Amino acid sequence: MIPAVLPTYNRVPLTFVSGEGSWLVEADGRRFLDLGAGIAVNCLGHAHPALTKALTDQAGQVWHLSNLYNIPSQQALADKLVDATFADTVFFTNSGTEACELAVKMARKYWYEKGEDRSEIITFSGSFHGRSSAGIAAAGSEKMTKGFGPLLPGFTHLEFGDHDALKAAVSDKTAAILIEPVQGEGGIRPVPDQCLKGLRDICDQTGALLIFDEVQCGVGRTGKLFAHEWAGISPDIMMVAKGIGGGFPLGAVLATENAAFGMTAGTHGSTYGGNPLGCAVGNAVMDIVGSDEFLAEVNRKAGLLRQKLEGLVADNPDVFEGVRGSGLMLGLKCKVTNMDVVTAGYGQNVLTVPAADNVVRLLPALNITDEDIAAATDKLDSAAKTLSFE
Ligand SMILES: *Cc1c(COP(=O)(O)O)cnc(C)c1O
Repeated sequence: MIPAVLPTYNRVPLTFVSGEGSWLVEADGRRFLDLGAGIAVNCLGHAHPALTKALTDQAGQVWHLSNLYNIPSQQALADKLVDATFADTVFFTNSGTEACELAVKMARKYWYEKGEDRSEIITFSGSFHGRSSAGIAAAGSEKMTKGFGPLLPGFTHLEFGDHDALKAAVSDKTAAILIEPVQGEGGIRPVPDQCLKGLRDICDQTGALLIFDEVQCGVGRTGKLFAHEWAGISPDIMMVAKGIGGGFPLGAVLATENAAFGMTAGTHGSTYGGNPLGCAVGNAVMDIVGSDEFLAEVNRKAGLLRQKLEGLVADNPDVFEGVRGSGLMLGLKCKVTNMDVVTAGYGQNVLTVPAADNVVRLLPALNITDEDIAAATDKLDSAAKTLSFE
C-alpha cells in the first residue's frame, strides 16, 4: 500500500520536535548539532528570537493580502534588496523553483519584446534549479528528467568548466546563460571568479542575459551578501530563496530595469508570493544578515571551520580527500561513500547533507558559535573514526 505521504523522499528515521540555534532536539530527547540548516534555509539557526517576533507580530495583524493591494512589508523588503544589490526591481515567490520559472520567463519575454528570436538558455552539468518543468529542463540530468517528458524545450546543456564548449554554444539565438556561482546539489563546486567574469564578458559581447541562481549560495552563505560579489561582477537576473526566509517559505527574482522591461502589468503573478508573513521574516533576515558586521563574522567563522576541517581531513586520510567551497558553504570530498559519512554522523548526533560528486555538505547556520564549530569537527572526527580502515 502506498504511504499516506507520497514516497518521493528517502527519509532518515529521525523526528525533530524543537530547535534552538544550531541544535535540534529529537523526540527521544537526543540533541543533534545541525550542520545542514534545512539545506541552507535556517540561516540564523532555529527559533531565532528576532525572526520569531517578526513572524508572530505580523501574524497578529494580517496573514494574507492579495497582490491586488499594496503590501508594506513587501515594499520594504524590495527596497532593502534593491539598495543592497545590483538589482532595480524584485518579484517575490514562495520558493527557489518559482524563482526559476520567472527567471526563464523574464529572459524570454525580454527578447520577445525586442523583436528578436532568441529563446535558447545555456545551463551546466551538475546544476540544480528546482523540480518544476522549467527547473528540470534547465538542469537536464537524467536523474531529474527521466519519465517526465516532453520537456520544456530551449535549454542547451554544457559540461561544467568547458570553456571551449561555452564559446562555441553562445550565439545570436542565446537568450541567457543560467548558472549557480557555487553549485550546491552538484557537490559544492564554486565557479572561479575569473570564469564568472568571463561569463559576464560573453554576455556583454552578445547581449545574452546573465542569470545567477543564488538560491543556495546567496544571503550571506559565502561571506558576502551574494556569492557573485566576490567576483566583482553582477548578473542581469538573480534567483534567491532558501536563506532569505530563514525557514519561512520565501523566494525572489531580482533584476535590472533593462532585463525586467518585458514584465509589465498582467504578465506574471503569484497568490502567495510576497505575502505579509514571509516578507516580515525576510525583512528581519535582511536586517541581520545584510550588515557588514554580521558578514565579517561569517567570514571569521568560515575561516575557523575551514581550518578545523583541513585538520579533520589530515587526521582521517582514508575517509576524506579534501575540503572545498566558500564561506559557510563547505563540502568534504569523501574517499568512502558520502552517505556512509552522513549516516555515521547521525550516530554522533551531527547532521550533514550529501551532495553529488561524493561530497558531504556542511551548511551550518551563519550565526553558529565558535563552541559549536569545535563540537562540529569533534563529532565529524568521531564519525570518521568509525569508518576508518585502521
Ligand atoms: C534548492 C534550490 C532550488 C529550488 O528551490 P526550492 O525552494 O526547493 O524550490 C533552486 N536552485 C538551487 C541552486 C537550489 O539549491
